[in-house]
Amino acid sequence: MAIPKIVILGAGYGGLITAVNLQKELNYNEAEVTLVNKHHYHYITTHLHEPAAGTASHESVKINIDSVINKEKINFRKGVVELIDTANRRVILSDGELDYDYLVIALGSEPETFGIEGLKEHAFSIRSLNSVRMIREHIEYMFSKYSYTHDDSYITLVVGGAGFTGIEFVGELADRVPKLCAQFDVPLEKVRIINIEAAPTVLPGFDQRLIDYAMKVLTEKGVEFKTNTPIKLCTPDGIVLANGEEIRAKTVVWTGGVRGNSVVEKSGFETMRGRVKVDPYLIAPGYEDVFIIGDSALVFNEEGRPYPPTAQIATQQGETCAYNLIAKIRGSAMKPFVYNYKGTLASLGKGEGIGVIGKTKLLGLTAALMKRATDLRYLFMLGGIPLVLKKGKFLP
Ligand code: FAD
Ligand code: NAD
Repeated sequence: MAIPKIVILGAGYGGLITAVNLQKELNYNEAEVTLVNKHHYHYITTHLHEPAAGTASHESVKINIDSVINKEKINFRKGVVELIDTANRRVILSDGELDYDYLVIALGSEPETFGIEGLKEHAFSIRSLNSVRMIREHIEYMFSKYSYTHDDSYITLVVGGAGFTGIEFVGELADRVPKLCAQFDVPLEKVRIINIEAAPTVLPGFDQRLIDYAMKVLTEKGVEFKTNTPIKLCTPDGIVLANGEEIRAKTVVWTGGVRGNSVVEKSGFETMRGRVKVDPYLIAPGYEDVFIIGDSALVFNEEGRPYPPTAQIATQQGETCAYNLIAKIRGSAMKPFVYNYKGTLASLGKGEGIGVIGKTKLLGLTAALMKRATDLRYLFMLGGIPLVLKKGKFLP
C-alpha cells in the first residue's frame, strides 16, 4: 500500500507544532510528511513588535526550521504557496507542485485594511521578519532625515489600531525612542508616538483596570492616545481621521486587525474575513482530507462568538491536528478540538505588562515575567531544553 502523503502549509505556530507532534508519534514509513514554508526559518510572531521597534535583534526571533524538525521523518520544502487545487489534491508553489493525501493549511494571517484608502500602499505592518526589518530601518532613516530637514513629520510615528499588537508595539517604540534621539541627535520632546483607536477605548473588550494601567504606563513613557477616532485615509505624508483631523507623519504602522491568508480564499474555500469555519475536528467542511488551523481557521465559543486568532489557539490546534492526522492514517477515532484558554498576557515595553490568568489579573513586572515564562514554554514545546537555552529570554 502506498504511504500516505501529508503536506503542511506554513511553519508558524500551528504548522510547526503539527509537524513536531507528528514526528514524535509517527513510525518510520507510516506517512511521508512535507512541511512547506516561505522561509527556511520560523519567526516568533509574538515577539515581532520588538525587532520592529528595534529593541531586539532580528536573530532573536528567528528559529531555523532544520533545527527543530527530524529530517528522517519530515521533509522541509522552502517555497511559496500560490494556490491549493483541492479537486486534484495538489498544492501549487511558485516553483513547483506537491501532491497530498492529507493537507494542513496553517498559513496564518494578513493585515485587514477594511478597504481604507492608502493603507496598503503607505502603511507598514507587523507580519513577518522582513516586514518588521523595513519598519525598523525606515524609522532610523526618518530620524536621520529629521536632522537635515527639521520637519516634525519625520519624527512623528503613528500606530493605527490599539489592539494587543498596537499596544505592545508602542510600548517598545517608547523604549527605543530615547536611544534613537541620542543616536541621531534629535530632541526627545519633539518626537510623537500616537496610537489611534476607532473604538471608545484601547484594547476593546479587555479588563478595564488593566486597560487603565496600560494607558498610565504608556502615557508616562510618552505615548499619546486618540480613541473613538477611526483612521479613514493614509497618504505618504500621514493620515486623516474620520473627524477630519490630519496628522502629518512619515511613519504609519497599521495594527488595525488581521484576516486569514488570501491563498485560502483564492483556492475556493468559503471564508469569513479570510478564515474558514472548520468542523469540530478542524477539517474544512466538504473536504475530508483538509485541516485548517491557526489564524486561517475560525472556531466559535459556546456563546457562538469566534475565538480571536492567537498563537495560543494555533498551537493547541496544531496538537489536535497531529492527533487527528494520525487517527486518519491508522483508522482510529479522531478527537474534537477543545480550546483550553489559559489567559492573556501583553507586554508594555521593558519590565512592564498586563495580563489575566484564570481569575487573576496581573500587572507590572509580574505580568512581564509571566509573559517570558509562557514564551519559554513555547520554545520548550518546539525544541526542548536546547532551544530554550539557545533562544530563551529570561528577563523581561
Ligand atoms: P503564523 O504563526 O503567522 O505562521 C504562518 C506561517 O506561514 C509563517 O511561517 C509564514 O511565513 C508562512 N506563510 C504564509 N504565507 C505563505 C505562503 N504563501 N507560502 C508559504 N508559506 C507561507 N498570540 C498569542 O497567543 N500571544 C501573544 O502574546 C501574541 N503576541 C503577538 C504579537 C504580535 C506583534 C503579533 C503580530 C501577533 C501576536 N499574537 C499573539 C498572535 C499570533 O502571533 C498569531 O495568532 C499566530 O502567529 C498564528 O499562528 P499561525 O500558525 O496561524 O500563523
Ligand atoms: P485586533 O483586531 O485585536 O485589534 C485591532 C484594533 O484596531 C481594534 O482595537 C480596532 O478597533 C482597531 N481599528 C480597526 N479599524 C481602525 C481604524 N480605521 N482606525 C483606528 N483603529 C482601528 O488586531 P491585533 O491587535 O493585530 O491582534 C490580532 C490578533 O492577535 C488578536 O486576536 C490578538 O488577540 C492577537 N494578539 C495577541 C497578543 C497577546 O496576547 N499579547 C498580542 C498581539 C496580538
